[in-house]
Amino acid sequence: MTEKPTLDAILIPPPELEDSWNEIPEIVKIGDPVLRKVAAPVRKCTKETLELIQKMIKAMRKARGLGLAAPQVGVSQRIFIYQVNPKSDLNILINPTVTNHHGEQLEPAEGCLSMPGLQGTVPRAQEVRLKGYDERGRPISKRASGLEARIIQHEFDHLNGILFTDRADPETLVWLLDDDETLEAV
Ligand SMILES: [Zn+2]
Repeated sequence: MTEKPTLDAILIPPPELEDSWNEIPEIVKIGDPVLRKVAAPVRKCTKETLELIQKMIKAMRKARGLGLAAPQVGVSQRIFIYQVNPKSDLNILINPTVTNHHGEQLEPAEGCLSMPGLQGTVPRAQEVRLKGYDERGRPISKRASGLEARIIQHEFDHLNGILFTDRADPETLVWLLDDDETLEAV
């Protein structure tokens, strides 16, 4: 059995970024096989599930990210969280589905907390429908567009072992070495 070669192996951060890669060790980085697994559905929301969600919220806020999927904290379960901006609602999605993709958007450039400092242009649908359950088992169904739709598609990909680098135009992938450059990472 030979594994399909992926870009992951060549996505090694420049030495200047080593510190920022180690800054938040609870977020797993590219190269960890958990990021390439198809995550398992959550059968029952237990105390452990709620603890996992709290851990994800803490890690996302510490990293000042816009979203985080459970595989990014090393747990291969179908859960993601996101918050478009500090004033908007925190969304918790368990066993989500994303359908009804409409339109296309190319901006803003995307980044990922599992590859801090890397960004690239990723074509995404402009609008999607998101369904799933919250942490209390209540159904969620909403339409999202723009940045929110982009975050949802990025996080949903994480649950299927897909990283933004798989969908990015390879020519646009760039390491941001300058501290002044800000990057919205999910
Ligand atoms: Zn990501």
